[in-house]
Amino acid sequence: MNELRRRDLPWRDDANCIGVDTEMFYPGPSSSLEKLAKKICSQCAVIDYCRNDAIKRGDSHGILGGLTGRERKREAKRRENQAKSQARRNSYDQL
Ligand code: SF4
Repeated sequence: MNELRRRDLPWRDDANCIGVDTEMFYPGPSSSLEKLAKKICSQCAVIDYCRNDAIKRGDSHGILGGLTGRERKREAKRRENQAKSQARRNSYDQL
């Protein structure tokens, strides 16, 4: 059973990875399983919820929301920079 089933997440019942071997989502380095896990994620109806949740929690392990931990870290940084940019633009509008 996938880790997502054990956590209290409202969208988990629609996860495409339910019933899939957890090992696939926690592949070792240079494992071909990463590609398979990402394919499952790409067809998941709740990929955005899963990705946002993992980024929010700072979860750096495994494939979640179609991204590796490193990719989620980059995405979190991109979102942070985007929010800072938007805040600056908003402050300019008030001048
Ligand atoms: S995006 Fe991937 S890891 Fe997340 S719930 Fe869907 S299939 Fe599972």
